[in-house]
Amino acid sequence: MHWFKGNTHTHSLWSDGNDFPEMIAKFYKDNSYHFLVLSDHNILSRGEKWMNVGAIEKRRRTLGVATLKKYISTFGKDWVELRGEDKKQEVRLKTLKEIRPKFERGGDFIFIEGEEITNSFGGSPVHTNGMNLKELIVPKKGTSLRDTMRNNIIAVREQSLRYKKPMLSHLNHPNFGWSITAEDLAHVLEEKFFEVYNGHPGINHLGDAKRPGDEKIWDIANTIRLATLKSDPLYGISSDDSHYYHGGDVKPGRGWVMVQSSSLEEDSIVRSMDSGNFYGSSGVHFKNLLRDQTKGTLEFEIEANAGAEYVTKIIGTRKGNEKKPDLVGETLATIKGTKVNYKLMDNEWYFRATVTSSKDHPRPSFNGQKEQAWTQPVWDSSAIRKK
Ligand SMILES: [Zn+2]
Ligand SMILES: [Zn+2]
Repeated sequence: MHWFKGNTHTHSLWSDGNDFPEMIAKFYKDNSYHFLVLSDHNILSRGEKWMNVGAIEKRRRTLGVATLKKYISTFGKDWVELRGEDKKQEVRLKTLKEIRPKFERGGDFIFIEGEEITNSFGGSPVHTNGMNLKELIVPKKGTSLRDTMRNNIIAVREQSLRYKKPMLSHLNHPNFGWSITAEDLAHVLEEKFFEVYNGHPGINHLGDAKRPGDEKIWDIANTIRLATLKSDPLYGISSDDSHYYHGGDVKPGRGWVMVQSSSLEEDSIVRSMDSGNFYGSSGVHFKNLLRDQTKGTLEFEIEANAGAEYVTKIIGTRKGNEKKPDLVGETLATIKGTKVNYKLMDNEWYFRATVTSSKDHPRPSFNGQKEQAWTQPVWDSSAIRKK
């Protein structure tokens, strides 16, 4: 088994990102990512799409060198397709199929086709990433917020069954527009993944005085799932949601997942994530990670950076505390250093680990951000209602 680094949430000129997909893929490949999901809003990178060059340059917001110029100097005049003159000049966006060979040839990088299924209910955004898709999913309406969340997950699942191909969906940035609460996430049982970290600075990652941040949302939702609904908890994903690649504040390289898989192949990566063999990171990595749901144990060693110190918080909810808001997702243990192991106690519904480095995040999405990692939870399986 190997560990692969990937970003599951990326925007390009195919929707509201401000660079060409090849330029974006190059950034990720050069920064030692193994896989990338280009997940544009309600579109796959397929078919013929021309864009006005002036409109592309406007998206750069006058930062740095012209987008087209960088694109041509990186991939060569012969690769870039232009038509028209002056203000009417257009460039054709390459499809995923066209750009795959350029990046995948070496066997050390792959694309996984995806889409941000961009939906809303009553003005509240409901954004769901579909991963490893074979065809576009048109956002499905619903009769309530939860119904809307559910219908889009079902659409991904239906496609997966139809193609007999593993696919995955994750609920994005619940606090964006303060639209999705922990209770919503808990009660939509079809939901298996959500973004515990998203690098877009406008998604209210930390919550506010009245509303919980993404990590607390995870704990509240998982406690409801286990204590009340007798259902499996959610897995947490860390992603970039990158839009800007010339400077500006929605930049790439902030959050990613590390997936343990036998091969760097799209179905294998998706299957591993589906069984929880991955963790979220914004800079902290593990050398060994053993998460054993059957034994109730979690063990890891942190890949230490020189001069950095690490604090691991074991976070969970004890049985009997599920209705006490202050004790839902409490810190069960604090461990300093690089070696961590913890075993689920009989009186705990679940636990998970958040590791925080003393090192500042080099590309922070919020003030004072440190490098972190988030493991998946380990929970009391005997609490789960048999399906
Ligand atoms: Zn979104
Ligand atoms: Zn997005």
